[in-house]
Amino acid sequence: MSTKPYYAGQDVDAPCGRCGGETRHQILTVTNGTPEQLICGNCRSVHKFRAPKPPPLARTPRAAAAPRPSGPRPGSLPAQFQTALAQEQGGALARPYRVTEHWAEGAWMDHPAFGLGRVQRRAGKKVDVLFSAGLKTLVSA
Ligand SMILES: [Zn+2]
Repeated sequence: MSTKPYYAGQDVDAPCGRCGGETRHQILTVTNGTPEQLICGNCRSVHKFRAPKPPPLARTPRAAAAPRPSGPRPGSLPAQFQTALAQEQGGALARPYRVTEHWAEGAWMDHPAFGLGRVQRRAGKKVDVLFSAGLKTLVSA
């Protein structure tokens, strides 16, 4: 945006409502570098300064809201379980849960109480498994 230094007494071309077009005006008052009052050199009427033309790039489209991060998180919602289930079709890969089995991260299990679940995190002999009912911690071999 070009900022011309305006000054009182300067001649500018500006639209005049009374004359119905652009006419030569003289700036009467300037505030913070912006003309406030003009006097029309044609009809001698005094009116407020209006910017001749709005800058062409005044309107920039709003940036679309950033999508929420969708990484797997411990304690995540059942909805996320449903998404993972749909994406990976884990039901076909699920093994029945047994304490004696080793459960790696990402493995699908079929739990007698909780149903289908996916191992989110493994810590020692325990695994956090996401079921449709929520996150459960189970024992793993
Ligand atoms: Zn005028």
